[in-house]
Amino acid sequence: MIMNFFDTHTHPYLEEFDNDRPTAMQRCIDAGVTKMIVPNVDLTTIGPLQQLCTAYPTNCFPAMALHPSSVDEQYTTKMLQIETLLNEQHFYAIGETGIDLYWDKTFEKEQKICFEQHIEWAYQKNLPIIIHCRKSFEEVMSSLQRFGKPLPAGGIFHCFPCGIQEAKTVIKHGFHLGIGGVVTFKNALMAKVVEAVPLEHLVIETDSPYLTPEPFRGKRNESSFIIYIAQKIADLQQTTLENVAAVTYENARKLFKIDL
Ligand SMILES: [Zn+2]
Repeated sequence: MIMNFFDTHTHPYLEEFDNDRPTAMQRCIDAGVTKMIVPNVDLTTIGPLQQLCTAYPTNCFPAMALHPSSVDEQYTTKMLQIETLLNEQHFYAIGETGIDLYWDKTFEKEQKICFEQHIEWAYQKNLPIIIHCRKSFEEVMSSLQRFGKPLPAGGIFHCFPCGIQEAKTVIKHGFHLGIGGVVTFKNALMAKVVEAVPLEHLVIETDSPYLTPEPFRGKRNESSFIIYIAQKIADLQQTTLENVAAVTYENARKLFKIDL
């Protein structure tokens, strides 16, 4: 049986792939990773992201946003360009956005302003939102709750960073949990979350070139490694790899409204 996988978060347009992008992309497609959501990072990545999605129109689907770690004193100019793009072209999601207080808290206030602007765009455009949340669960939830009503097209807590209680909260708000390579690491809190959460609320993602799963931890990550994440989810949920692939593929397809 041929298994197809949907990688809901990958960045193959980054320079880590500049030397072998076509070979790496083909390897991922051959491994059954036929659909990939490709979230933007900052203004410098828009060109490479667009090129990639044009080269792989049936495989790669762009998401647009300003990454929280790219929010700085230039944020108003940057956000204006993102907004212009969102008005000019079709994107499959707003992402990745959110709040990251792990690396740097300098622009905490600005990160919050930008995140809430992204939430507003998700409402206006009826698009799912891809949330990057690191050491910021309270802040992210309070921004979401300021809007009072659930997002019309839902979204993903990418690389889900919290425990079972938080997982229940985000599911209640209509979000999916993005499960990545961290679930394959020893003693991962995420393993406990995956055991406890029904498959219908999960999607899988590599966050390539980052967060490489075992047994390749330390190397460059790519979407073909998604099988190690899916297998770990299957083990934790005591189901088959085929079932994990099929259910998470369908979850992602519906979320991003991709009818291929
Ligand atoms: Zn990412």
